[in-house]
Amino acid sequence: MIKPVPHVSAMAAYALADLGGAHTISMAQNESTFPASPAAIAAGQAAMAELPLYPNPEWPDLRAAIAETYMLEPNLILCGAGSMELIGCLIRAYAGPGDRVLGTDYGYAFVSSASAQVQADYVKAREVDLTVSMDEILAAVTPETRIVFVCNPGNPTGTLISNAEIIDLRNALPADVMLVVDQAYAEFSDAGNDPAEIFALVERGDTVVMRTLSKAYGLAGARVGWGYFPAKIGAEVRKLLNPNNVSIPSQAAAAAAVRDQVHMRDVVARTAEIRDRFADDCRAMGLHLPQSHTNFVLLRFASPEQAQAADQALRAENLLMRGMGGYGLSDCLRATICAPEVMDRARDVLKGALK
Ligand code: PMP
Repeated sequence: MIKPVPHVSAMAAYALADLGGAHTISMAQNESTFPASPAAIAAGQAAMAELPLYPNPEWPDLRAAIAETYMLEPNLILCGAGSMELIGCLIRAYAGPGDRVLGTDYGYAFVSSASAQVQADYVKAREVDLTVSMDEILAAVTPETRIVFVCNPGNPTGTLISNAEIIDLRNALPADVMLVVDQAYAEFSDAGNDPAEIFALVERGDTVVMRTLSKAYGLAGARVGWGYFPAKIGAEVRKLLNPNNVSIPSQAAAAAAVRDQVHMRDVVARTAEIRDRFADDCRAMGLHLPQSHTNFVLLRFASPEQAQAADQALRAENLLMRGMGGYGLSDCLRATICAPEVMDRARDVLKGALK
């Protein structure tokens, strides 16, 4: 009999979102509702001519675009096939059997799966009021803890903690514990929150910052993420990345997208406007929504039964939100911000379901 290794056999497959049927409008994966920058689409298309070649494994132009835009050191940037690839490789490089990888109650689910792949224990620190708590994280650190993941703004909550709290956390963590700040949604909150303060933590040698092109830049389908790594950590992670990991069109589109900050900021502003109107409408119906700093909202219903009834009513209208039972939030649904007419439909269906 051909057998997989026992820990893989015991693992659950990563739970991807339910994608519904052919007519389903997905509000489930936090993709951007707006197209990528026209410059990014043009650059990706032009790069198709280079498809006979392998992609450059050093992502030179993309790195340069990120470094110029975010005012970073290009050599400390690594690019991945989504930030998922970088997160997986980081865990493989720094955690093994019996080590602890610490996340938070509602942190990014893939971190748990990537930890299981290396037989590390993924443990969640409690969140308070759907918000990451520094005290709870520090209380959950043990001598086995290798990496702490903080997602800011949080997914699926949308809540934000201050840069000062992250800096305090870093200072309070033991020096041999790595802090990873996953900023997949930070373009939606950068305006009031100086990103340089968090990138500067990388200079300490013990902190990594992750970003992605999948959200505000509208390139989820291109699979491009990046991280800012201390040189020594980056060198180890580099060994585990797939060679030529980001395709030629994806590198070209991503570089152009990052250079078009006007487009990205416009997407962020328009998304926030639609989001805040939808959130106000939902609150007026009696739902509880934490203030979102992202392109999605978490809807909290009066009970798990009410959330389920709303989910069914939405599905009957081909609208698919994300159930939150896997996070222990079975009274919640998470809704990606879509076009205004989709949000209006969702609002009307919810209104009907809550009667
Ligand atoms: N971190 C968080 C918090 C996310 O929500 C996601 C995607 N949903 C990612 C990382 C990974 O994004 P990608 O692999 O598309 O860059």
